[in-house]
Amino acid sequence: MTKAFIQEMEATLHKEETRLRDEITELKEEDPKNSSNSMTSASLGDDETDAAAEATAHEDQKILEESLEAQLRDVEGALERISKGTYGTCKYCDKEIAEARLRARPESSSCVECKKARTLEA
Ligand SMILES: [Zn+2]
Repeated sequence: MTKAFIQEMEATLHKEETRLRDEITELKEEDPKNSSNSMTSASLGDDETDAAAEATAHEDQKILEESLEAQLRDVEGALERISKGTYGTCKYCDKEIAEARLRARPESSSCVECKKARTLEA
């Protein structure tokens, strides 16, 4: 694995980190339950269907937010591995992760074989 390749992945990861942070911030601002000016959507009436729909929307948003936060943790972990010099090495078998795999998913921390084995286990 070349230094240039790692630098390229680092740049990609930084962009990804910024994008995820922005998305999470936006989601939190849009969430009616977290916003302080929730008058607009909540004042439409206390119809049960509306309330249920709003609760579902809130749930969906929560799930999306959690998945974005999980992605962000992966990206931050990868950046940390770059700074420690352990980036691109499988955390299970210590072998180098294929560049093609890292290109497709720069935050990967395990090689294809280990990932497959782990997925089958779970
Ligand atoms: Zn491995």
